[in-house]
Order: sequence, then C-alpha cells, then structure tokens
Amino acid sequence: MAHLSLYRKYRPATFDKIVRQEHVVRVLTNQIERGEVGHAYLFTGPRGTGKTSVARIFARAVNCEHPVGGSPCGECSVCRALAQNSLDIVEIDAASNNGVNEMRDLREKVQYPPVSGRYKVYIIDEVHMLTDSAFNALLKTLEEPPAHAIFILATTEPHKIPATILSRCMRLDFKLIPEEDLEKHLAGILDELGRPYEREAVAAIARAGAGSDRDMLSIAEMCLAYGDKLTYQGVTSVLGSADFTTNLALAEAVLSGDLSAALSAAEGALSSGKSAGVLLKDLLELLNQIAVAKMCANAEKLLALPEEFYREVERVAKKSDGRAVLRATEIFSAAESELRFASSPRISLETAVLRAAMPRTDTDPDALILRISALEKQLSALSAGAPVQSAPAAASALETASAPEREEDELPPLPEPPPFDDAPPWEDAAPVPPPAPKAAPRPAPLPKAMPADRTAQAPFAQPEEPPTSPGGGGDSPEALFGLFLRKLRKLPKSGVAYALCRDLVPGREGDTLVLTTDVRTVCDTLNSERHRPLMQEVFAQIGVTQFEVRFAGAPRAEEKDGIQQLREDFPGYPIDIKR
Ligand SMILES: [Zn+2]
Repeated sequence: MAHLSLYRKYRPATFDKIVRQEHVVRVLTNQIERGEVGHAYLFTGPRGTGKTSVARIFARAVNCEHPVGGSPCGECSVCRALAQNSLDIVEIDAASNNGVNEMRDLREKVQYPPVSGRYKVYIIDEVHMLTDSAFNALLKTLEEPPAHAIFILATTEPHKIPATILSRCMRLDFKLIPEEDLEKHLAGILDELGRPYEREAVAAIARAGAGSDRDMLSIAEMCLAYGDKLTYQGVTSVLGSADFTTNLALAEAVLSGDLSAALSAAEGALSSGKSAGVLLKDLLELLNQIAVAKMCANAEKLLALPEEFYREVERVAKKSDGRAVLRATEIFSAAESELRFASSPRISLETAVLRAAMPRTDTDPDALILRISALEKQLSALSAGAPVQSAPAAASALETASAPEREEDELPPLPEPPPFDDAPPWEDAAPVPPPAPKAAPRPAPLPKAMPADRTAQAPFAQPEEPPTSPGGGGDSPEALFGLFLRKLRKLPKSGVAYALCRDLVPGREGDTLVLTTDVRTVCDTLNSERHRPLMQEVFAQIGVTQFEVRFAGAPRAEEKDGIQQLREDFPGYPIDIKR
C-alpha cells in the first residue's frame, strides 16, 4: 500500500475543514453562492496556511452543479469528473516552470473551453518565482481573460509581484494558524486514526508547527513513527531538544550569574552532539517559558508542559530577576541571528553565554540597571537597619539580587500613566473622585517600590539621592508621596503633572511634606495655578493638608525676587533690566 502523508491524507475537501482562514473562506463562499466569481485571485500568506487547499476547493466549487454552503458537493457529475482527473483544473508550480514559454503555452490553452464544468481554473503556485517576461505574458492573459477562465495566484512573497498583476487580482491574505487551532486539528486527526497521545505532546507539536498546518502535520508524522503512543518525551527527542534538564541547568546558571556552571552546561550540551544553533533555539524557548511562568497567571495552561517540567521552569522563574531573563533573551536571539555569519558557531555561543551570565562586566544599559537595582536593594536594607554586607557588595549584590527579597516585583503593576496632554484637568468631563474623609485611613505601605520604579525609568537622574527619612512605615514621606503619585496617575489628563511630580524627592519638615526638585522650571510650574490645585486635591484625599514644592537650591522661605535670583545664578554677567 502506497504511503500517503498525513498532510495529503487529511487535505481538506470542503471549506469547513479549512483550519482558521474563516475570513478568506467567507469571501469565497459568498461569491460562489451569489454566482459573482472573479477572474483573478491572489492568495498570499505564510507557507502551510492552506492557500493551495483553498484554491483546489474553490476550483471544484465554482464548477459544482449543487454547491453545499459554497463547497463542492462531491456527488454531482462534474464533481465526480473533476475528482477523476481533470483538464479543467490546471496547477502550475512557478518555482519549476517560471519561464515565458510556460506562460505563452498557458495563454494559448486557456482559450479552449472547459471539458466538464463551467470554468477552467489555473492555480499558479509560488507565482513570485516567474521571470519578468513570464509575468508580462501572464499579464496579457489577465488583461483579457476568456469568460470561462479563473486564475488563482498563490505566493508567500506578495511584494515580489508586479503592480500591474496585483491590480488585476482580488487579494486574500492567509494568516498564520494559532497553536490552539493547530492543536485541535491534530487531536482530531489522531482521534480519527485511533492513536493514543498525551495532551502535552500534541501541544508541543503544534508549537513546533509555528503557525503552519503542513509543517505541523509533517512533524506529527515523524513523531508517530517514533512510537505507538505520542508522548511528550518522544516528541522532544524527535524535535532534537531532548535534554530539558541540561538546558534548564544552563538557563539557570546564566540567570543566576554562575559563570563556570553556565560554561560547563554549554560545553556538555555541545559535546553531546547538539549544534550551537539548536542549543540557542532551545535556550530561547526555555527563557520564553521562564518569562511566561514569571509573568502570567495562567502560565501552566499556556505552556502546557508536563507537570514535572513545569515545576522546574516555575522554580527557576521564581528565583530569577525579570530583567535578567529579558536581557539573556536579547543576547541569545542576537547571537542566533548572527550565527549563520559566524566562522565558529561554538565561540559565538560561548561568548553569548558569558555575556548573559556576567552582567557586571557589561556596560550596556540593562546590565547597569541590574547593578543599580541590586545596589538599591542593599541601600534600602541598610537604611532599614539590616546588617551591613561585605564591603565589595556592589559585585556580589547581583547574586543576592536574584535571590530572596523580591517583594517589589510581586507588587501589582501601576496603571499606565495617562497619555500626555496639555489640556487642564478640569476640561475633562470625568467626575473628580469625591474627597476622602479628613482622617484618611493610612495608606497601605508602599515600600521600596517607588525608588526602584523611578530608577527603572531614569537610572541616572539622581544617583546621589539619599534615602530620606529612615524608619519607613505607613507615615513616611516616601510612602505618602508614593500613594499620591499613584492616585495622581489614575486621574484623567494628569499626564503632565505626573511627569513633573515623578522625580520630586519627598521629605518632611514638621507637619509639612516637602517635595524638592533641582529643576527650577519643575518647581515653578508645579507651584503655578495650573498644577497646584490638582496636587492639593489629590493630597487632601490622602489626608495631607500641608505640602510644599521646593527648588533644591533655594528654600522657599528665603526666596529672592526674580532679578536677584538671576544675578545669583549668573554671577559675573552684567544684568540690566529694562522696565
Ligand atoms: Zn458537485
């Protein structure tokens, strides 16, 4: 018995069996039902998304005597004749027949009327491969097609099609197929075949299909040949990424900055015969899984890993810093795309592993931010009275940073600031939230999140900023100001005020909350009629009645008049004021 590939065997015969491309199917079935079929179509989209399958169904449907829901009935005499063998549906692979002679031949033969049905349908696959003169010959046919001719041009690269051709075609874009749909399709086929499978195995194959039904089915076929039951283990060994444990050890070592462990894990993977390219791919996928496990509430379902693998991924995700994951991902994906130009893939791989594992020798901004945030954590630990760590802590801080004290990452994210907008807040129709009772409840402590938050956005704004007013607690100026910022950010049209307030340094003088800035414009703007009332209102909501925005250089109490200030700011310049 001749072997028939899964993809061929399960090639859809009707439109309802097409996976995912509902938008295309709807257009075509509507046209068939209304009898308003065009003469030229262009099907574009990634490989394996169903372009040829849809073209074949369409070619039969336009000829069918009694189409069912736009699909060929499969029973009428025409359907049966077309199923046998047909001169009326002509498929041309432009990749192998790209010359002007083929197109001239087509131009001649298209004139003969169809044998069994109403239409002669030409399906030209990979049409972008035609030569210029072949395109010209095709164009002549498209310009004056016989009434019985329909052309379906299919391509993965529509930008290579001349505009003269494009303008004569109805273009339909095929989309990549979501993993979920691929999964469903594969599970349906396996059920039909009566082959047992693990859900994780099907998910892994769907993922490897990367949006292409054809690719997925050919991978599935290899996996089915591997064993009677489709298992995750079997699938990963077929896909060449068997060594989950080795890969995880490597990722874990990289993320925790353990250089020697990282290098020896990479060494181990390479000496087991894995190529640098495959290893990088595996690492990237694993880092992605770690990121998902870190960020997504429903990660377990999203990843669909076997239980014990997921627990491991989750463990590494928990102890790793999110920024380190992102940074490692960037380094490895850059390395992967440079790999094909590299004279020694092995050295490229090891360099990437080194770079990703030792951020402290690296001067790119992400590495610096990692170092700063590690230092900051130490600083706040110090000001909270924690025992002093070893002196060259800057370096070792990195290791500890990725370990236990991670509350701030677990805090719920602040809402996005409103878009910048210069209109004053009162112009907005949204009602102002009612003021809280005077004796406002103490805000939930908003601990070290604020400094870290600010650092992440402007790492070098105020590097010498001292930890103001130690002791903390719900009453600390930082906590109050943090709460103020969060409330302010939620107000409509508070973008400008928020941006100006964000870098203020909170402190306390008696009963007054003092906010200092070293930018005079910021100070003046916030004290103006434009912003002060808004600040007042938001502060009132959290029970702060006395606050002051100060320019760091000049305490407000002794503020000089403007001219005096100018003279001080520019000593040695003659300042002459004309009144
Ligand atoms: Zn029919």
